[in-house]
Amino acid sequence: MPDSPLSFPPIAMIDLGPAEAAQPLAARPDAIESEGGHTQVAIIGSGPAGLTAAIYAARADLAPIVLGGAAPGGQLMLTSDVENFPGFPEGIQGPELMARFREQAERFGTRIVDQDVDRVDLATRPFQLWARGTRYTADALIVATGASALWLGLDSETRLRGRGVSACATCDGAFFRGKRVAVIGGGDTALEEATFLTRFSPDVLLIHRRDQFRGSRIMQQRAIDHPGIDIRWNTEVAEVLGDGVVEALRLRDTQSGREWEEPIGGVFVAIGYRPNAEVFRDWLPADAAGYLEVEGETGSVIPGVFIAGDVHDHHYRQAITAAADGCKAAMDAERWLDEQAAAPRVAVPSIAAAG
Ligand code: NDP
Repeated sequence: MPDSPLSFPPIAMIDLGPAEAAQPLAARPDAIESEGGHTQVAIIGSGPAGLTAAIYAARADLAPIVLGGAAPGGQLMLTSDVENFPGFPEGIQGPELMARFREQAERFGTRIVDQDVDRVDLATRPFQLWARGTRYTADALIVATGASALWLGLDSETRLRGRGVSACATCDGAFFRGKRVAVIGGGDTALEEATFLTRFSPDVLLIHRRDQFRGSRIMQQRAIDHPGIDIRWNTEVAEVLGDGVVEALRLRDTQSGREWEEPIGGVFVAIGYRPNAEVFRDWLPADAAGYLEVEGETGSVIPGVFIAGDVHDHHYRQAITAAADGCKAAMDAERWLDEQAAAPRVAVPSIAAAG
């Protein structure tokens, strides 16, 4: 597919100055192996936020480029049944849902490159992005890199992911109706998920490696007081057991080292998330947990850079809310580009005129 034609003259490499752009801490990239082309809107990330942004930007004739990552599709690629995404009353498999998002984005002219962006330069416009030695330039940028759930790191946990091992009770809790389930962790996510799961499960084990929760006092008290939640302090998971699906956990007492097995139908790992924001570390401010800070709905400290989805939202973390955010970011980017086109051009004195 050809690169997008610009609908207005490219915004030349105008230094935005310290007031408009954060100063990079890292050295400027210099080696360019190949040029990937210029676009009005580049979108980094190909989960629900990124691909919804692409659908909207493409339908606005902005011919976006999505740099979707080497493992495209986001967290839904690790989910089996999705039953809460509107429009699919029978449910849909996570990877199939993302394939449909992608097809819809491509149908309207999105170019998708399945590469990780390894560095960006947001000091001047057009913005520059590098993915495996290829440089892309963009007048506007939508950051939709998502977040990754943290896992325990056990081989058995990986093998049974989507077969009884989940990182999202809101998404998967209803599949475990009537079954005994376990939640791992001691933060607000674990406390909230354990409480939520009591709607479906008669017996929720809350397994925490220490003798004190990390979560907020009110959430702690709610979990401690709940008759359906059985708290196991000083306990960690040694192994997830089961052939095709989860059948039991081998647990270990973190103080005595004693191990034992508990029959279980499902395991919810709730030990935190890591926003995928590393590549923007020198450019966009983040909170203490690494989530990017948004100005207004989808804006950032850098004009022309927009933020959507789980890379800033640690509260809702749903495909539908990420998709809505992607929509908003694309509309905001489109409006911003229109404003740039309408604004008087910034005169950059030429060397000849100055001399
Ligand atoms: P947190 O980092 O707060 O908690 C993670 C928990 O997992 C900790 O208890 C930690 O144990 C445990 N843990 C970490 N690694 C392991 C491991 N390898 N094995 C076993 N246990 C492990 O993450 P959350 O996702 O719970 O919360 C993130 C942020 O989001 C917090 O600021 C939280 O307040 C907020 N949040 C707010 C909610 C709300 O207001 N409704 C809901 C959900 C989250 P240890 O304590 O020993 O370190």
